[in-house]
Amino acid sequence: MRMFWDKKIETLKPAELQALQQKRLKKTLHQVNNVEFYRTRFSEAGIKTTDIRTLDDIEKLPFTKKQDLRDGYPFGFFAVPMREIVRIHTTSGTTGKPTVVGYTQNDLDSWAGLIARNMTMIGVGKDDIFQNMVNYGMFTGGLGFHYGAEKIGMTVIPSATGNTRRQIEMINDFGVTTIHCTPSYAMHLSEVAEEMKVTLDTLKTGIFGAEPWSETMRSTLESRLGVTAYDSYGLSELYGPGVAFECPERDGLHIWHDSYLVEIINPRTGERLSDGERGELVVTPLVKEAMPLIRYRTGDVTMQMEDGCLCTRGKKIARFTGRSDDMLVIRGINVFPSQIEHVLLKIPEVGNQFMVYIDRINHLDEMTVDVEINREYFSGELADLARIQKKVAKELRDVLELRTSVKLVEPGSLPRFEGKSKRIVDQRGAM
Ligand SMILES: [Zn+2]
Repeated sequence: MRMFWDKKIETLKPAELQALQQKRLKKTLHQVNNVEFYRTRFSEAGIKTTDIRTLDDIEKLPFTKKQDLRDGYPFGFFAVPMREIVRIHTTSGTTGKPTVVGYTQNDLDSWAGLIARNMTMIGVGKDDIFQNMVNYGMFTGGLGFHYGAEKIGMTVIPSATGNTRRQIEMINDFGVTTIHCTPSYAMHLSEVAEEMKVTLDTLKTGIFGAEPWSETMRSTLESRLGVTAYDSYGLSELYGPGVAFECPERDGLHIWHDSYLVEIINPRTGERLSDGERGELVVTPLVKEAMPLIRYRTGDVTMQMEDGCLCTRGKKIARFTGRSDDMLVIRGINVFPSQIEHVLLKIPEVGNQFMVYIDRINHLDEMTVDVEINREYFSGELADLARIQKKVAKELRDVLELRTSVKLVEPGSLPRFEGKSKRIVDQRGAM
């Protein structure tokens, strides 16, 4: 089999890694000169790419934001002629046009290689049967994992999303060992399997990504599905999935430093933060051809961990708390949906599906959490209902430091999500 990456690249000495990063950064800076947006930006800032001599010099360069990419719709950020582009994907925009990302053949190879590295790291390979339960359309998750898994010889089932009963039948009929989906879909899958009264005995490994999820969610998914659960992080602007991934230590995510230059910044001031300080992840990809980006603001909140990993693959980033734009500010307090999920998972009287509604009533933010009652722990008495409601509200108040109204609803009555979940309804701007 052709080697698609040199294993040595994962354990380079700091000086060797720096030299490689510097060489690749130079090439990337050369490449971005083909993009009008960057030529204009840099000349406005009075910077020439040739002024960037060390890795730290990139602090002199302006950030690239999601909005910049939207403004460049459709192909404004492509640094190669269209005939070199072999595929495009788009990222869903909540408003207006999506963002378009393009790939050269080399980009597709690098991307599949990164995913192959991640999967190899967690010990899956030729003997594994892999069901890829994510959207295969314009979303990068499907094809991204598909080609990475094929590259290491896994047997790939491109099941995509939908028809959960059929997905469960396939897992059992085909002897699937490894699944990839969003954590919320994995939870749904386990619920449907329970309804069908089937166990998923062949499953060993679960790769969950595309939305932040908590450690409590990890242990719940592991016990319900019988898997070891790994966190996967990526975003389409940086190819797609595969940017960072947990190793068997499962304490933080490895980000491939030979391919991505990492900074953590204070999202308000743009100032660079030290290791151990939580802020927004900013990435300069080092091997992208079609759409090189400089200091791309991901909007995702993490930190660089201070110590290297026991597995010797270098410095990690912490699991994600959320997106800086998912973060809700309620009466001046920062709240992440993942914190709410974390609280609910610890209370057996309620299920793990929830919806959050935020309203402004008499100029005050009011948060209501709808959560399903768990029949097993509910006597049917009205007094019991009040007790459970009070318990959930108290736990939420303790963790969020915020008063919350809790509404208990019938099991199965809240929406289930196959892709990224949309559990927050912020009605403060609406009339
Ligand atoms: Zn590790």
